[in-house]
Amino acid sequence: MPISLTSLSIVDSPVTREEGRKILERDDYVCRYCGLDGRASFENALVMRVDFVVPRARKGKKDPSNLVACCTPCNTIKGTRVYASFDEAKAFVLGQREQLRKSWESKIARPLAKAAKA
Ligand SMILES: [Zn+2]
Repeated sequence: MPISLTSLSIVDSPVTREEGRKILERDDYVCRYCGLDGRASFENALVMRVDFVVPRARKGKKDPSNLVACCTPCNTIKGTRVYASFDEAKAFVLGQREQLRKSWESKIARPLAKAAKA
């Protein structure tokens, strides 16, 4: 779901720009899963999406009750699984994020001393 850099609105999406904007405004441009603030920076704005809580592939409806503001990483982690509720989906996404963070910290993150010098 690429984003239009000129309008910061969602294009090539199952929801129209106007529908997407309404959902993002309703959710104050904050990812409903991890809390990323899409208004805090340009980089954050670039990754904001609208997520189908029940995926379209699982016959999720294009209805505001089934749509939430979501960042791309959370959207990717959530995938097309089916969850019993939004809260269950959120718990899954946050759990996966935490595992990824631990993995990243153990393998990729620079030691603090090095990062401080850079
Ligand atoms: Zn997120």
